[in-house]
Amino acid sequence: MAMSSCSHDWLNLSPSTETETSTSIQSLDDIEFTLNGIYSAMQSSNLYSGRLVYYADATGDDMQAVSSTKRCANYYRFNWTKDSGPSSQWSELYAVITSCNVILNNIDGLEIFDSEKERYNDLKGQALAIRGLAYFDLVRLYGYPYKKDNGASMGVPLVIEELEYSSKPSRATVAECYTRIIQDLDDSSKIIGEEFNKGKFSKWAVLSLLSRVYLYKGDDVNALIKAEEAIEGAEAAGYKLWSNSEYPTAWGNDVSESNPGEVLFEIVNTTTDSPGSESMGYLSSKSGYDDICITTSFYNLLLEDPDDVRLSLLSFDGDEYAYVYKYQPQEGEEIEDANIPLVRLSETYLIAAEAAVKRNNNDKAVKYLNAIVSRANPDNSVEGQTITLDMVMKERRKELVCEGHRMYDVIRDGGMVKRVDASNDDLTTTHNTQYMEYDWTFYKIVLPIPKHETDANKNVLQNPGY
Ligand code: CA
Repeated sequence: MAMSSCSHDWLNLSPSTETETSTSIQSLDDIEFTLNGIYSAMQSSNLYSGRLVYYADATGDDMQAVSSTKRCANYYRFNWTKDSGPSSQWSELYAVITSCNVILNNIDGLEIFDSEKERYNDLKGQALAIRGLAYFDLVRLYGYPYKKDNGASMGVPLVIEELEYSSKPSRATVAECYTRIIQDLDDSSKIIGEEFNKGKFSKWAVLSLLSRVYLYKGDDVNALIKAEEAIEGAEAAGYKLWSNSEYPTAWGNDVSESNPGEVLFEIVNTTTDSPGSESMGYLSSKSGYDDICITTSFYNLLLEDPDDVRLSLLSFDGDEYAYVYKYQPQEGEEIEDANIPLVRLSETYLIAAEAAVKRNNNDKAVKYLNAIVSRANPDNSVEGQTITLDMVMKERRKELVCEGHRMYDVIRDGGMVKRVDASNDDLTTTHNTQYMEYDWTFYKIVLPIPKHETDANKNVLQNPGY
């Protein structure tokens, strides 16, 4: 099913062959049909199967473009102007939001039986979760980090109601965007289903995502509360951190209710429903587009412990490039059909550890960090140690590489991304490295608002510096 809905110039929605509007929502089946269309739109290689995922890796210091002509090279080199910035993410995320709005603005008007209440709540919870995720990604792409100025700077237009054709909304502040995102995710977490729901949001993924948002906002109290709620609930529901021995290949598991593993939310791609060769599986593989690889400095970081299981995810092309093999196809599939884990229990543990450190709760910091450290190498432990923020952030870096976190993780706390010259006899990829140091004062840490948007709606102001 194609995306969506009432056409507004400013949203620049792609033409659709099948539209959903208020009048087409008559039943929970219609809601579910629309929701499936939204999940399908999220599967786009511009969104959660591809470029939106690796944007924060390509702009960071742990990964790089394989060469200057590769797809992610413009991200890596910050090679864009206000007229040539990436723009698909803007229009496609707003298309997702518009479809969520159609659901959320109509679902309350449906007459349903008591027996349908649970399904009603779950579907509404999913639409809220997806809208929260989409706004979070928009505000990360286009708005400065919350902590830079307590959210006073420009975020993105918050479109919640169905717009009149002539509407020209302006940008809400980052703080206003965070309020909406937190509201959506919190509301969702109270009604969405708790059960395993393949390729769909469930309560544990929503709580985990909510804890991430709180962390970005600097609300470490709630980040810890929500992360712990997610961990406890997910584990009671059967989710479990992959073990050391499972870790190298668990990424390719075709998860099910009886074996959910640690992926709380993933994009499910299949051979017959595949994002194709612009997907993370294909982009991050030597035998695919050979697009993005790790930096030598990151390789050295992982090599601090030669027995770290995460080294087993690296594949090498001679002595030149090392790739991260996290996007493993499920049985019988090609690499481009690999599912995309978007919320992993390992991240939730690291959020809990980070929030605990920031709250000076060393016992909990030890507990949550140790689970990740000792899983990576059972001979290692942080028990009995005083956990520092640096320890957690280093572990986060090692654990979450190539999953779309790195640049944001540095910038959100006011840190400095430092691409450093590094050498390693096993790896000689320094020739394409673009050395840079930057923090949240660098104007290109936010993307320019796409030209089609600023042209169509004068109320949408451009980011400073562009
Ligand atoms: Ca798959």
